[in-house]
Amino acid sequence: MNDLAQNTRPIRYALLRPETQRLLYDVVTQEAAPLTGIFYSYFLKNEEAAAFLSHDDVRKHLAPSMEKWLISLFDPQHPTINHEQQRKIGKIHAQLGIPIHLVLRGAILLKNELGRKLVTVLSDPTSLGDALLFSCNKIDKAMALMSAAYVTNTKRNVRTVEAYRVMSLGQDMTVERESQLIALMEWSQNFLFTLIAHDSSFCPLANSAFGLWLRHRAIMLFEGTPELDCLAEKAAEFDKILLPEAKRINAITQQAYTLKFQAAVKELKYLLSTLFQRVQGLERGIDPLTTLLNRRFLPTILSREVTSAAHDKSPLSLVMLDIDHFKDINDTYGHPGGDRVLKQVAERIQNTVRPSDFLFRYGGEEFLIILTEINGDAAIKIAERLREAIGTTVFVMPDETKLHVTASLGVASYDGHPDPDVLISSADRALYKAKQNGRNRVVSA
Ligand code: GH3
Ligand code: MG
Ligand code: MG
Repeated sequence: MNDLAQNTRPIRYALLRPETQRLLYDVVTQEAAPLTGIFYSYFLKNEEAAAFLSHDDVRKHLAPSMEKWLISLFDPQHPTINHEQQRKIGKIHAQLGIPIHLVLRGAILLKNELGRKLVTVLSDPTSLGDALLFSCNKIDKAMALMSAAYVTNTKRNVRTVEAYRVMSLGQDMTVERESQLIALMEWSQNFLFTLIAHDSSFCPLANSAFGLWLRHRAIMLFEGTPELDCLAEKAAEFDKILLPEAKRINAITQQAYTLKFQAAVKELKYLLSTLFQRVQGLERGIDPLTTLLNRRFLPTILSREVTSAAHDKSPLSLVMLDIDHFKDINDTYGHPGGDRVLKQVAERIQNTVRPSDFLFRYGGEEFLIILTEINGDAAIKIAERLREAIGTTVFVMPDETKLHVTASLGVASYDGHPDPDVLISSADRALYKAKQNGRNRVVSA
């Protein structure tokens, strides 16, 4: 065996002299509590980790377990590392959601501190070197086993949640939706009874059956969707704004308040229905409102188009379109009014571009158009046509009001960069400029 291989071989207990072995174990046993303290005080000071741990949790459960873990790691009676124990710890950290990189950084602190202690008790350089190397190896090996288990468990958790979501969405969700609409109705009726009775014991929406569903089941089923964020935000407004207001109601203000409350409940019911509708469509890759593609297949389609543009040396352009002041439309005509505009804008886009182009509903009131085999100049002309088509449309609102709407557009063309996201970012930046320059215009990247 060559020198290097010999030097890089991990030191085993057998290679430590018995007295060094004993001393190391004694140091770890005596210092287990302060070493653990250093590890966890780092954790509790760190915002990312502190979100998962409270001081009480640490004191009651984690610190004593860690002391035991540390001592067992250096126990001369059990020189081989206990794989099962390390895997279990990794699994617990994964379940708690404690980021593994923080655990690894905590381990560095631990090794430093242990090293400092060893320097004060071991004066012989060979023993000190052996003990330092040994303790670092031991902790590193335990950490490697732990992080392997951590990664496996995190992946498993993600897969389980995903499988549950897909399974649930594959089922008929009508019953789930109806039961939540009823739960919402029951809560709002009780709220109004309380109001009429001049009682002040209002049940916050968060504590109702619907609130519970929103916090637990809905998160599992619809997590990460803008529709859920919107619903959660509106639901929170009840407890933050409408509930305190209800406590100040008198005979004169009661009627106006009741109307406002009922309108807010109606909006919540509407958002709840669209949440189910849209998310079911999401799985199929189609946006149910506009029947355009949703973002699900955008990465696949755009990558393929970028690759084929590179291969065939053909042009390719993107248009990002955003309706101007759309929030005002919602505020004036309600969500159903806003939806009607979105549907018609989508139809306009569809009638203006070629069947070979790809149309996506990119976000709430944002559309993305992939113009295949179209260069920058032609793309600007098409974008102008789109802007005009939307600007000249008369939108008829649910209350028969006639409305004019404008849109801003950003254009970007493929310039040889292989990353499709670069193209999207350029179109996005161009759109941002179009907004900044006054809206109702086309800007090219
Ligand atoms: P800007 O001109 O800067 O684009 O202003 P804006 O009001 O159009 O843009 P903002 O991003 O402030 O508001 C977009 C609104 O679109 C907010 C959101 O509630 C609404 N929205 C998102 N998705 C939907 C939807 O599916 N239906 C309806 N009706 N509204 C939606
Ligand atoms: Mg907008
Ligand atoms: Mg927008």
